[in-house]
Amino acid sequence: MSRSLTRHILVAGSRTGTGRAVPEGASTWDPVAFEDAVEATLGRVLVNPVGKLVVSSIRRRVRIIPFARFTTDPIAASAETLPLDHSGATVRGERIRWCQRHVCTERETESTWVGSGRGSASRIAFTPQMWPRMPGRVPADEVLLHELVHAMQHTCGVLSWRPEGMGYDTFAEVCAITITNMYRSHFFGSRAHLRANHGRRGSFRGDPYPVRDAPDLIYFFGPSEARSREWRLLDRFCRLQPALAAALRALPLAVCPYNPLRDRAQEMQTGSLDGLGSWGPPRPVTR
Ligand SMILES: [Zn+2]
Repeated sequence: MSRSLTRHILVAGSRTGTGRAVPEGASTWDPVAFEDAVEATLGRVLVNPVGKLVVSSIRRRVRIIPFARFTTDPIAASAETLPLDHSGATVRGERIRWCQRHVCTERETESTWVGSGRGSASRIAFTPQMWPRMPGRVPADEVLLHELVHAMQHTCGVLSWRPEGMGYDTFAEVCAITITNMYRSHFFGSRAHLRANHGRRGSFRGDPYPVRDAPDLIYFFGPSEARSREWRLLDRFCRLQPALAAALRALPLAVCPYNPLRDRAQEMQTGSLDGLGSWGPPRPVTR
């Protein structure tokens, strides 16, 4: 049983990825309530212009199922997205790095397989009820959007597990985190706290993610020498997904205040960062 939500996105609440009818840690399970919650969460993603662009870039089937372990603890809660065909999902010619755990050693990921870039169907394990709407908590729609970026990467054959350091884990996470920060700025404007990297060590009590609270990180692709590497990563995203990058870049300030693609384009044109920094000076980081 599954419910179709968009042209390519389906939701199915009756089984987890490990085949359980009731996720671990849950006493009871209502598949219809899960599907309703996913539908409502996707509805919120689709009112955001960044979310709309991500969803419209999906080219193959994406199935959303319950996350295997149910918890509302902000540190333990997670979500994950895996392609059905690793080779198809991965950038053409790039070596596939993958192991069972989220972060793997070089040796564990050694493989002679390379990506075909053909694209692959994808499966998102995400439970909206694990992300209750509370102050200081990451909203469910933002978690779903992050996973939809990964699913989109799989369906377009642009997945890159290339390790990038700086707490990002992989190139795929650089893209997902940057696009999610842009998405967040649409809803929260300059009050938004931007996620810094892929770490799980909270900057605040009860907060699962580190935020960009240091002055040279607040303005993500800003003039900090230490962060200039991020500009080059952004350039790689533009090469891999030129149409999506152009559409995101064109989102105006009023709709997407945090837009490093727009700022990068301006910097390339003028050869200078002067006048940039529309994201503004570091803000107080209480919440
Ligand atoms: Zn991710």
